[in-house]
Amino acid sequence: MFDNLSDKLDKALHVLKGHGSITEVNVAETLKEVRRALLDADVNFKIAKEFTTRVKEKALGQDVLTTLQPGQLMVKLVKDELTELMGGDVAGINLGGSPSVILMSGLQGSGKTTFSGKLANFLKSKKTKKPLLVACDIYRPAAINQLHVVGDQVGVEVYSEPENKNPVSIAQNAIEYAKKNGHNVVIIDTAGRLAVDEEMMAEIAEVHKAIQPQETLFVVDAMTGQDAVNTAKAFNDRLNFDGVVLTKLDGDTRGGAAISIKSVVNKPIKFIGTGEKMDAIDVFYPSRMADRILG
Ligand code: GDP
Repeated sequence: MFDNLSDKLDKALHVLKGHGSITEVNVAETLKEVRRALLDADVNFKIAKEFTTRVKEKALGQDVLTTLQPGQLMVKLVKDELTELMGGDVAGINLGGSPSVILMSGLQGSGKTTFSGKLANFLKSKKTKKPLLVACDIYRPAAINQLHVVGDQVGVEVYSEPENKNPVSIAQNAIEYAKKNGHNVVIIDTAGRLAVDEEMMAEIAEVHKAIQPQETLFVVDAMTGQDAVNTAKAFNDRLNFDGVVLTKLDGDTRGGAAISIKSVVNKPIKFIGTGEKMDAIDVFYPSRMADRILG
């Protein structure tokens, strides 16, 4: 991912590397390219503009007698700003509560079920965690089966009630079951739709309100560009979620959504999905992602 953006930024920054000092003219030239590269990568227009304005102010405020070469200085400024834009530090998840309840939200196909399995596997590997996966999709029996398959793959128990058509009661029963059976983490996979709709939002909002999870994660396909940002906004308005999971970063995505989502909903990206396998999960490191963008 990001090859496109990375190449372009690289090219833009090379323009500056040939110059002995930072001037308003060469900073403006370089940042024009940076902004174009961000826009091409699907970063929202306003965010790209604000980004380059901030970098410009910082660049022009620098003492030209700095030990860094101007080109290197610009790379550093762009990288630092990009890191900041994506959240700065690593954001952990809240595993307080007994059990800790993690609610997954997102559209159908975003990778919720896959990620639920990955997260269970990830937490299980920390020896103190005994997760329980919960199937709360009451519409698609296939979704329940899929979670069972995923649970089997990672060796984590799956709680489901195929006959129960009330997701709130399934979630509540699952939490009771977890308490009785020594599970200290409950991961609840919910029903998604192909697009945001009121019924889905009302349902997940009701589950959210009833179980008061320690952590509500919004799962989104990184390949969906600006749509990802709009979906994030719709879910955040309703759930005020705690963090974002960006899936399918192994695909051919330019990934600008990562930058825009954080800026628009002001919630940290916490994990990324980098493949279909159960170990294709990574904590999101803003600085690593910035490195990757800059190449
Ligand atoms: P859900 O409807 O939100 O539960 O989505 P699923 O978990 O069923 O995922 C939808 C499709 O995306 C499946 O084919 C998954 O294998 C695939 N998928 C999920 N996460 C990733 C990822 O990080 N990378 C890739 N390449 N595929 C993924």
